[in-house]
Amino acid sequence: MALLEIDKLNTGYGEVQALWDVSLDIEGKGITALLGANGAGKTTLLNVITGLQKAWSGEIRFAGKNLFEIKPHNRVDLGIAMVPEGRGIFYDMSVYENLLMGAYTKNAREKTKDSLDWVYSIFPVLKERPEQMAGTLSGGEQQMLAIARALMSRPKLLLLDEVSTGLAPALVLTLMDILVNVAEKGLPMLLVEQHIEMALEVSRIGYVLENGRVVIQGESKDLRTDKKLREAYMGI
Ligand code: ATP
Repeated sequence: MALLEIDKLNTGYGEVQALWDVSLDIEGKGITALLGANGAGKTTLLNVITGLQKAWSGEIRFAGKNLFEIKPHNRVDLGIAMVPEGRGIFYDMSVYENLLMGAYTKNAREKTKDSLDWVYSIFPVLKERPEQMAGTLSGGEQQMLAIARALMSRPKLLLLDEVSTGLAPALVLTLMDILVNVAEKGLPMLLVEQHIEMALEVSRIGYVLENGRVVIQGESKDLRTDKKLREAYMGI
């Protein structure tokens, strides 16, 4: 059984449908990539998982539970954390304060000290500057803080929305190495990316959304050489 099972999901905004019969499984291991162009529906799908966006029809099960019976604010407690596009950190709060904000659920609060040690070991740069205001960090450091804050909730599944946006290529590689490492140690992730080649390098399974529909899916190692995908999305 997959950790997260999405079955024939439909949703949209007003009268406009954004997702059409989307079915997708996230295994309890490694990184699953969700790919597609601007406006394909990637963020909408993440928002249905976290509960920001309501489904019109379909089903999502997380660890066997019907997610639609669980209120959005309780889904964090259940183990679903998201790093939103644009990071969503608190710029006028310190690194340390931002991290504490990530551990707000009862479950996570009890593990705060452990969690801090854990995220500081993953991102040593944050350990060196707990008092620094988040707004004065570099773009890369802010992204690390956003991820670290999500980790503070001790998730069982991490959703990442275009975390590479605006970062220098070398930094993106470093960040991906870190994510692969954390994922391999037991935290499955759904990685939403526009950098298709890179996302397929780091993931085990990939899905491609086009106009709200899953048009390609498979093992990432196969998708890397998939003719249709390369022609349509990599211009090769
Ligand atoms: P991007 O990479 O640009 O973030 P995306 O793949 O995440 O794109 P979504 O943001 O999910 O795509 O958008 C899917 C579709 O839904 C688009 O046509 C978009 O215009 C529409 N949409 C998204 N949010 C809203 C909203 N709040 N109100 C109306 N339409 C929306």
